[in-house]
Amino acid sequence: MTYRPHPFSWCPGDGARHATTSHRPQTGAEVTALCSAAFTADHSDAAWLWPTCAVCNAAAHDMAGTPKARRSG
Ligand SMILES: [Zn+2]
Repeated sequence: MTYRPHPFSWCPGDGARHATTSHRPQTGAEVTALCSAAFTADHSDAAWLWPTCAVCNAAAHDMAGTPKARRSG
């Protein structure tokens, strides 16, 4: 199988790290996330410390075709 890059990128904004199908939006860009949240991209240092949006995380895993991390044993 050929590796395909994920069709989304992670973009912090509005207090959480969201995933979006926009291609690497720059700070200040209007972004619509996979969870349908609309916000302004914020790539400040603090922004990367925000929690990952659970809805985007699940949607991103679906798009990437990988199951969510499971505990083994
Ligand atoms: Zn989100």
